[in-house]
Amino acid sequence: MLSYQHIYHAGNLADVHKHALLAWMLDYLTAKDKPISYVETHGGRALYDLGADEALKTGEAAQGIARVKTWFPPDHPYAKCLSQTIDLHGTSAYPGSPMIATQILRDTDQITLAELHPGEHNALELALPTATVHRADGFAMAHSILPPTPRRGLMLIDPSFEVKDDYVTIPGHIKKYVRAWNVGIIVLWYPILTSKAHANMLATLQKDHPEALRHEVRFPPARPGHGMIGSGIFVIRPPFGLAEQAANLKTRFDQLK
Ligand code: SAM
Repeated sequence: MLSYQHIYHAGNLADVHKHALLAWMLDYLTAKDKPISYVETHGGRALYDLGADEALKTGEAAQGIARVKTWFPPDHPYAKCLSQTIDLHGTSAYPGSPMIATQILRDTDQITLAELHPGEHNALELALPTATVHRADGFAMAHSILPPTPRRGLMLIDPSFEVKDDYVTIPGHIKKYVRAWNVGIIVLWYPILTSKAHANMLATLQKDHPEALRHEVRFPPARPGHGMIGSGIFVIRPPFGLAEQAANLKTRFDQLK
């Protein structure tokens, strides 16, 4: 039974890292006139209320986006999504990754999402009525639809890592995705953990995809003793300019106390 719910963590520093770079990549891809596909294996509910009890209980958004939103100038694609979400849904609203994609993509683009948790899946369908939303295992969904039409595009894999086996099985899934979608940008988010549970997965991914961009930021744990001390993305076929964007963002994270 799945128990992870992203509302406890929405808008935390890991979301800031992941969502800022995702928004930048999607903005880059949509600068060209050609349509794209956006695929996401673990969508979450797309729209979060940072004033909800769950979000207030952990305080992660307060230490996250509430604290660092001035890092992003108003014309940054992530800042634009934050503003649009607040304009449409109220001052405490925060966009998850499927919402960010929906706001940046155009009518000619395709969005395909998976979410396994029944409540999160219902909320996702309600939040994004124009997207194709599967209530399915995201890894299996991706195997069944790749390569998507249009062929240009990006897939985000953002598991909750509740199933510890994910650290072992993800490199095998990704190897097949890369083969099936030979032009797709494939992005994996992962936590940096004091337990180092992510380390072997990363070593395998780097061996399999030596040209990929691995980018990590560190931050203080959300609570004393909390195991997550940073956020990483592993990007296969990174768009031109991503390394520079990521390096700039890292200088901000490095200044956090
Ligand atoms: N990507 C979202 C964002 O950034 O806004 C957050 C996603 S959250 C980290 C992970 C989500 O995956 C949760 O909503 C959880 O219910 C869902 N999930 C867990 N196992 C799954 C699976 N095997 N397939 C699809 N979704 C799954």
